[in-house]
Amino acid sequence: MSGWEAACPACGASLVFSLGSSLLRVCDHCGVAVARRGTDLSKHGRVAELIPTPSVLALGLEGRYQGAPPFRLAGRLQVDHGAGTWDEWLMAFADGNWAWLSEAQGRFHYMGQAALPPVARHGEVRAGDTVDLGPPGTFVVTEVRTARFMSAQGELPFVAEPGGLLHYVDLSGPGGQFATLDYGAGETAEALFVGREVALGDLGFRDLPDEEARRHRTGGQTLSCTQCGGPVEIRVPDQSQRVACSYCGSLLDVTKGLAVLDAVARVAVQPLVPLGSKGRFAGAEWTLIGFMERSVTVEGVRYPWREYLLYEPRRGFRWLVEANGHWSFVEPVHAGDVKGPPGGARPATWQGKTFKHFQSGQARVDHVLGEFYWEVARGDLVQTDDYVSPPLMLSTERDASEVNWSLGTYTTPEEVQEAFRLDAAPTRPTGVAPHQPWPWAAQARSVYSRSLMFLAILLLAFVVLNILGGRTVHQASVPLRPGLVSGSPEAAVFTDPFDINRPGNLEVRVQAPVDNSWLHLDGALINEETGAVDAFDLEVSYYHGRDSDGSWSEGGTSARSYLASVPSGRYVLRLAPQWETGRAPGSYDLRLRSRVPRFHHFVLAGLALCAWPLVLLWKHMRFEIERWSESDHPWVESSE
Ligand SMILES: [Zn+2]
Ligand SMILES: [Zn+2]
Repeated sequence: MSGWEAACPACGASLVFSLGSSLLRVCDHCGVAVARRGTDLSKHGRVAELIPTPSVLALGLEGRYQGAPPFRLAGRLQVDHGAGTWDEWLMAFADGNWAWLSEAQGRFHYMGQAALPPVARHGEVRAGDTVDLGPPGTFVVTEVRTARFMSAQGELPFVAEPGGLLHYVDLSGPGGQFATLDYGAGETAEALFVGREVALGDLGFRDLPDEEARRHRTGGQTLSCTQCGGPVEIRVPDQSQRVACSYCGSLLDVTKGLAVLDAVARVAVQPLVPLGSKGRFAGAEWTLIGFMERSVTVEGVRYPWREYLLYEPRRGFRWLVEANGHWSFVEPVHAGDVKGPPGGARPATWQGKTFKHFQSGQARVDHVLGEFYWEVARGDLVQTDDYVSPPLMLSTERDASEVNWSLGTYTTPEEVQEAFRLDAAPTRPTGVAPHQPWPWAAQARSVYSRSLMFLAILLLAFVVLNILGGRTVHQASVPLRPGLVSGSPEAAVFTDPFDINRPGNLEVRVQAPVDNSWLHLDGALINEETGAVDAFDLEVSYYHGRDSDGSWSEGGTSARSYLASVPSGRYVLRLAPQWETGRAPGSYDLRLRSRVPRFHHFVLAGLALCAWPLVLLWKHMRFEIERWSESDHPWVESSE
C-alpha cells in the first residue's frame, strides 16, 4: 500500500492517500481536512479533537475478514445523531476495495458497498417504510436520521465539511442483514452499504487489547449528583448517556459532567429489584442498570408498567418488563425479520410464527432511575403496537424517525426471584397478561387425550359386552287359547321355574304377532325362596296403514322391559295378559336374559369421563376472554 503522497497545503507535512478512492485526508500534523480532486488539493476546515469513545480499535490496525484480502483501518469518522457518538472505521483492503466497520454500543457492523438502486429522497422516507434494494432484498426502514460529522482521522472516501450534517437511512433486511443509505449532505442518496453484525473476533485483528483490559477500561465509577450531592453510580460509563439520581431523581447528562437536565424533588417510584442487581437470564449474567415507569392512557385511565434495563458487556442491552405483577424478558429482533407493517390490526409474523394484534397505544415515559444508553427524558412519547402468541409478545415502538421491534418472553415472578436470588417473589400477578400461557395447557392436553382414550375403550367395551353379554335364563312360547277373556285370571300363566346364578339386571323380551292390535302383560317376578315380588308391565303394539301422505306404521311386534338388580336365586314369572277384544294373538314368545349391558350406563359413564375436559374447556375460554378483555379486540363487549 504505497498510495499517493503530497504535501499538506496548510502545514506542508507529508500526506499519504493510501486508498485510490480516498477523497479526504485529515492531516496528522495540523488536523486540517484536505480534499483532493485528481492531483488538486484543497483545504477544508480543521477537524475537532477526537471524542474519547471506549473503542479498542485504532488507525493502522490490520486484520482479515472472511477470506478477503488483508485490510488495514485507514480512516475513522466520528458522528453523532443526537443520542451519542459512534465510530465508523474505514477498512482499506489490499486490493483497493474498502468497507465500513461501524462500532456503536460495543457492537460491530461490517458494511460493504453495494449497487445503489433508485430510492426516495431523504425527506420522503419514513421509519417503517419498506424499500426494495435490489439483489440484497426488501428492507424495512428502521431509522431516518441526520448526524453531525464530529471528528475524523486518516482517510475518508467522501468529501464533507467537518461539523456539517450527514443524512442517512438505516434499514433492516432478511436474514439479519443491515443496510445504510448514505445521502451525504444532500437529499439524494449517494451510496448504499449492506452488511451484518460481526463479532470483533471475526475480524482477525492482530495486536488487539484483550477483553479483560477492555472491560477494565470500561468499569463502573461513582460520581456525585450535581443536584443533591448523593453518590451516583455509573456502571456502563462508555455507553450511558443519561443517569437519574437514586436519591433525588434528577435526570443528569453523563456526557456533560452530569449536568442537570431535569431536577425533581423526590424519587416517585422505586424499582422492585434494586439497581445494580445481577440476574441470570438466557444463559448470561446481566446487571440491572436502569429503571423506568411508562404508561398508556386509554379513555382517561392510565395503565402503567415498569421496565428494567439489563446490560451484559458482550451481548449489550435487554429489558425486563413488569405489568400487573406479570414479567417479560425482552430482546431486540431485526425489523427485517418481521412481516406485517406496524400500526395495523393485522397479524405480524416472525420466524414463521403468527402473532395476533393485541393493542396499540402511545407510551409515555413517566419516571426514570439509573442509567440509559439513549437521551431519555420524562414525557418521551412513542407509538406502540403489541402482538401476541403466548408465551411470546412481539412489540414495536416507533416515531417518525425510528422503528424498533422486540420480543418478550413471559416470565413468572418466581423465575425473576430465582434469577436475581431474591428472598421472595417480587410480585403477585393480577389478571391475565397479554402473552401469559394458559397455566392448565399441559394438563389439559393430557386430560383431553386420556379422556378420548377412555371413551374409545368404553365404546369397545360396550360393543364387546353387547356381543358376549346377556345370558338367557328362560325361553318359552306361551299360547293364548281361543275362548280366553282378556284380563281374566284364567288367561294368567306361571312360567317354569328358572335359576338366576349371578345377581344383575334381567331383561324380559316379548315377541307377539300383533297386527293393527296390541298385547299388554302385567308381569311379576317371584323369588321362589324368599317370596319377594318384583312387578313390571310391558306392551307390544303394532299399527300400520296408508293415508294421503303414503304408508305409515307405529310400534312393533316386540317389546322389552328391564328389572334392575335381581339377586341370584330360583324364580318364576307370572304373566297376566290383556289384548284388544277379538284380536288375540295365538301365542307370544318370551325370553329372559340376565346381566344385559345397558346403553344408557355407557352414556352416563361417557358423560362422567367428559366432565373434567369440559370444565377445562370452560376454564380456558374464561382465561382467553379475560386475556382479550384488555386488548383492542375484546371477545365480549364490556357493559360500560
Ligand atoms: Zn497539515
Ligand atoms: Zn441527586
